[in-house]
Amino acid sequence: MPPQPTLKINEIFSSFQGEGLRQGEPTIFVRLSGCNLRCSFCDTRQAWEEGQDMTHAQIKNKIDQIHKEFPANWLCFTGGEPLLQNIQPLIKDLKSRGFLLQVETNATFPPIASIDWYTISPKPRAYFISPQLIHLAKEVKLVITPDTEFRILQDLRRQFPIEIPLLLQPEFNTKTATKICMSYIEKSLECGMKNLRISLQMHKILGIR
Ligand code: SF4
Repeated sequence: MPPQPTLKINEIFSSFQGEGLRQGEPTIFVRLSGCNLRCSFCDTRQAWEEGQDMTHAQIKNKIDQIHKEFPANWLCFTGGEPLLQNIQPLIKDLKSRGFLLQVETNATFPPIASIDWYTISPKPRAYFISPQLIHLAKEVKLVITPDTEFRILQDLRRQFPIEIPLLLQPEFNTKTATKICMSYIEKSLECGMKNLRISLQMHKILGIR
């Protein structure tokens, strides 16, 4: 029998979505290992290398186990970069079981089918976005650091439809980065830019995963 396809998984766990417009919703997270980028502000460095190879059946069993105790409707694929590995066959299967599916991606890879919610989080220095993702985004999340230039916000606002919010997420929820977010929102108002907001990482405030 041919070997079963595997995915390298960093962790699978239940929590409340801490970021973006879905903040506060009960969610089961599948964190995939590996990332093609190395952002200085990365808060999931453990997912760059660490993880274990799991077959699709093992992943589904783990999700089922968690779901028995925590029957959340949403599954969030995060990382690392979840689109670095071929998750499409697993996604199809999970979709047919009735889950709502979110992918949090750095946007450098083309999208896959059957995703209900794409969170697009382009990263420095290139802030490259795979063109097919532009019209699939439900939200655009930008980590703001002292190095983030205002022109990046302007570029992103131009690229995405106006109804898609541009969420400014202060690096590590720091006061310095939050102040930069506030000043950028004020500046965006002066420039006539619409649909920007600050988005803190709720899970870090609450001390949960
Ligand atoms: S893209 Fe995301 S996971 Fe990858 S290095 Fe940057 S912050 Fe970390």
